[in-house]
Amino acid sequence: MSKTKFVDFKAIKTQITMEQILEHYGLRDTFKKSGDSLSGPCPIHKGINPTQFRVSISKNIWNCFSECKHGGNALDFIARMENITIHAAALKAIEWFGLDPESLSIESDAEPEKANRAPKKAAPTKPAVKPESDAPNKPLKFRLDKLERDHPYLKDRGLTQETIVDFGVGFCAKGTMADRIAIPIHNVSGEIVAYAGRFPGEPGEGTPKYKLPQGFRKSLELFNCDRAFKEPPERPLVIVEGFFDCMTLHQAGYRKVVALMGSTMSAAQEKLILKNATHHSQILVMLDEDEAGQSGREDIANRLCRSVFVRIHMFDKENMQPEHLTAEEIKTIVQNS
Ligand SMILES: [Zn+2]
Repeated sequence: MSKTKFVDFKAIKTQITMEQILEHYGLRDTFKKSGDSLSGPCPIHKGINPTQFRVSISKNIWNCFSECKHGGNALDFIARMENITIHAAALKAIEWFGLDPESLSIESDAEPEKANRAPKKAAPTKPAVKPESDAPNKPLKFRLDKLERDHPYLKDRGLTQETIVDFGVGFCAKGTMADRIAIPIHNVSGEIVAYAGRFPGEPGEGTPKYKLPQGFRKSLELFNCDRAFKEPPERPLVIVEGFFDCMTLHQAGYRKVVALMGSTMSAAQEKLILKNATHHSQILVMLDEDEAGQSGREDIANRLCRSVFVRIHMFDKENMQPEHLTAEEIKTIVQNS
């Protein structure tokens, strides 16, 4: 049985952006945006110079001016990162970004030489898939069990045994999240849709801090929202960036907290927040006190303030994060909002 797939490279290239791909690799935060370009260290040759790799957002192409001395489109990038063919890269892109193979004129289970026999090719008038498809992340059919709950990294981050068990986090010895702290991510209905894998410590050059499963779109989820939305409506919803910020607030007794899993709020996350709010709802935006957090919170406040009461928390020290707060400080901040 031949499983050859015909891939319309052109169609796929227009469906995915370099920004989405960097996000997929957990690299987006290591890139700086300025005007039409994103620049950062080259993820292909694992460079360190922060300007050697550049992406043109409008053209959706990349270039490494250092070791690779090479550039290309989105598929070339995946092919080089994975060390696979363009064809295989296209299939990966379809899987990762939930593209609809039907409308990308792919015929599966066909033999290449008999392709012309295939009854119908995708009609040219067929609308293309939107880059941000609304297909939700599918609930996982498995659970990572035997996670080590007493891993020292979790204690280093200040988590108590109760919080560790409550959030179901733990060190994973085997499988796709091997040697990482696995953090289950639930959708709004409380089903696990992915495990994020945090490197337990400071990762070395080229090793991402977080690993997310292929195809998982974190922009569609809000960490801990399944529980936070069940909290009393009169309490403010606190929005933080990271898993550990969220767990820290939760541990301090403030449970109406969600994490964006980054410093920006996606359209889907905005929708989810507003769907679970009224115009009396209050939102406290508490992102990290760094450049990304500062620009992220402005944008979030601007978008949410049209529908709810929004307050921004600013830390008085650079690089402060909600995770660094004591339980007492968290209490004071939330109560004053
Ligand atoms: Zn390079």
